[in-house]
This record gives sequence, C-alpha cells and structure tokens, in this order.
Amino acid sequence: MNTLDIENLVVKFPLVQRLMDLEAVTWFNPNTTTLVEGLPYVGLTQNDVAEAEARLQRFAPYLCLAFPETQQTNGIIESEVVAIPAMQGALEQRYEQAIAGKMWLKKDSHLPISGSIKARGGIYEVLTHAEKLAIEAGMLSVDDDYSILFSDKFRQFFSQYSIAVGSTGNLGMSIGIMSAKLGFSVSVHMSADARAWKKRKLREHGVNVVEYQQDYGVAVAQGRKQAESDPHCFFIDDENSQTLFLGYAVAGGRLKKQFAQMNIQVDQDHPLFVYLPCGVGGGPGGVAFGLKLAFGDHVHCIFAEPTHSPCMLLGIHTGLHDHIAVQDLGIDNVTAADGLAVGRASGFVGRAMERLLDGLYTLSDQEMYDLLGLLAAVEGIQLEPSALAGMAGPARVCADPQYLDSHQIDAQRIANATHLVWATGGGMVPEEEMAKYLAAAKR
Ligand SMILES: *Cc1c(COP(=O)(O)O)cnc(C)c1O
Repeated sequence: MNTLDIENLVVKFPLVQRLMDLEAVTWFNPNTTTLVEGLPYVGLTQNDVAEAEARLQRFAPYLCLAFPETQQTNGIIESEVVAIPAMQGALEQRYEQAIAGKMWLKKDSHLPISGSIKARGGIYEVLTHAEKLAIEAGMLSVDDDYSILFSDKFRQFFSQYSIAVGSTGNLGMSIGIMSAKLGFSVSVHMSADARAWKKRKLREHGVNVVEYQQDYGVAVAQGRKQAESDPHCFFIDDENSQTLFLGYAVAGGRLKKQFAQMNIQVDQDHPLFVYLPCGVGGGPGGVAFGLKLAFGDHVHCIFAEPTHSPCMLLGIHTGLHDHIAVQDLGIDNVTAADGLAVGRASGFVGRAMERLLDGLYTLSDQEMYDLLGLLAAVEGIQLEPSALAGMAGPARVCADPQYLDSHQIDAQRIANATHLVWATGGGMVPEEEMAKYLAAAKR
C-alpha cells in the first residue's frame, strides 16, 4: 500500500488511524447476522463438525496408549471450565466497570499433549492425514480399533511420509509432537519470535526445527515451499485449512455438554459471551463456528488481539481481509503474545466468520502481563500472556449499552449472562519462563 492508499483508507475508516496509533480499541460489528443468514458464508456444516467429532472418537483408543495423560478423559482431548469470581471482582476494580453476569475460564491452556488451544486443530489435522494415508494403503478401516496404530508396523509406514508446518510456536508443538509420535518425519518452520524452550522441546521429540529470522508469514511461506518440492510431504496450512478449523469447531458441542452438566443455562434470557484471543484466526474462528452451531444466536463471540498485531480487526473492519497486513500501515507486529504475532489474517476465516462475530478489540502487551499477574494472584491460575487477551472482554462488553441494546440484551438479561474467557495457552510454560512473565506484571 502506498501513502495515498493509506490516507484514503483512514478517511473511510477512522478506526484504522487508532490502530496505527496502537490504541486499545473496541469495535462491535454492525454486520452481524443471525446464524441462519451467516452460516452459508462459512461453507461448512454441522455435518462436517459431527464427522470431525466421530474421527476424534475413532482415534481415542490410540491417544490413550500414545499419550497416557489422556486416559482420564478416555483419549478425548478436552479441558475444564472453572469459575473465576475473584478475578471478576478484581477486573471490576481495575476497569472501574461493573461486570454483570458471571465469569468463567475455559482452560485450553491445560489441554493434554501440547498445553494450548492448538491441541484441538493441529492434532486433529495430523490424525486426519494419518487416517487417510492408512486407509488408502489398505492398512486401516474406520471400523477398526485404532489402538493398532500404536505399533512399529504403523510407525514404519508413516515414516515414509513427512509433514511440514510454519508456526510461531504452539501450532508447531501440537503438530510436531503428534506427527513424531505417529512416526512421521516432521519439520516445523519457526518464526523469529518462537520461544527457545518450545524449539528445545520439539527437538527432544525428534522434530526437525527450522529457524527463521523473520516473522510468521515468512516461516509459513518457507514451509509451504519445502513441501511443494516433495510429493510425500504434507503441508499444514494454518492460513487456509478447513481441516484445522473443523478440529477447533468440535469444542462447541463439547462445551454445550459441559454446560448442561454444570447447570449453566444458555438461551435468549441467559446470553453467553465468549472471548477468544486471535492470531491468524483458525483457532478462535473454528471455536466460534462450533459455538454458533451449538448455541445459535444466544452465543456472542468476541475476538481479542494485541495492539501491535490487529490483523483480523483490520481485515474484517475494512473488508480487505488478507489483502492487507498490519505492516502495510507501519504497525510492527511485535508482541509478547505467542500465537498472536500475526500480521495478515486468514482470508478464509475472516470471510467465513465476519457475519457471525459480534466484535473484536485490542489490548496492549502490558495489559496482558498485568492480567496474567492478577489472575495468578487472585485465582492461582498461571497462563501465558496471549491467553489473557480475552480477560479484558467482559468489561468492554458491559461498558457498551449501545451494543447490548442492538442485540436486545437488557439489564435483566445481562445480569443472567455467562462470560467465558477462552484461556488458550500456558500449561506447559517452564517455571523460569513463568517467573519472567509474572515479573513483567505491574504490582
Ligand atoms: C495460536 C494461538 C492463538 C490464536 O489462534 P489462531 O488460530 O492463530 O488465531 C491464541 N492463543 C494461543 C496461546 C495460541 O497459541
């Protein structure tokens, strides 16, 4: 984009100037529609999500054997929902804003195998690919007990194939660990911001880690290029993959069951707000899609991004989607929030979800650190910075009567609301790294 284009863009969308000024902004989407109207734009259906759930069920006996930590949940990779009343009180004080309703935390931070939301989509896509190869080779049928995959015969079979992915860290962890366990030869192309401990952990699992001095976009492009030259190599495309998206979407139906068991009501008079940290968009987009299928128009999904990487807000607000990157505006895409340092949003997710999202907002890195410190202090829960991005959401929603009004959410309804903050990572952060995060929080 040249200077003139940017000037025109700012005239048309004054919010863009505030993004360029690195302000913390909140934008509620005026183009939100009902599920029925919005669904066709996604191009995927309830059936596709049901198929993904069934595939994960088939793999459950294998996962039980390959990752004993999944035995408690019978090989299903799922996380807890916990109430955070002390944090809710602390946030009301911090923001000087009453938060009507009740706050909960979805602890994807503590998902088994890779300790982040990527244990949903990333692992699902690797399993999908493995299943396809094994079925095509006549070694597996969908009626088999998939624990047979935990054998030298299958490991040897998969070792003829390779998998590649570009990542800022967490996706690489999920795909690397899962692929290596099945027997694949796997390369993770890591951007400059990826943490040393993640690279170390992957190498310990036998993953080939390729390091770049550039950001996520370059790591992905290089991974894609390497895969193109090798017919036995499968590239997992974080920017465009519908398979990843479906792996995330399974969370919706699962949450509905959890809420039913916990007697958490969601309906017209009991709205559900879900706050999701957003990087390229696949994780929060897929989860939001699954939530919409599960709860219909009673769930309101809001994405959170760092002030230095507001790619999805920029793409959806301007309608330019993946035709614009934050760097085009001089925004540096440098943030401590792993997984969120993405300059250009997924074109697929932005276009699929723009009508089903209620809004997006940004917050500073220091805000994420402060929230990290606060949550650790008042609830004893430790997360990585990106996982706190959603924590600022309930106060933003409650501070905007106009937005609530536009969705017919009156005082009574907001008092009955459930606010679910999606904690996307942090369960595997080493102690000394966590100490650094905690030290960055202002007392
Ligand atoms: C990847 C990631 C996200 C966002 O997911 P995207 O699919 O990139 O939008 C959020 N939080 C954490 C901790 C992540 O690793």
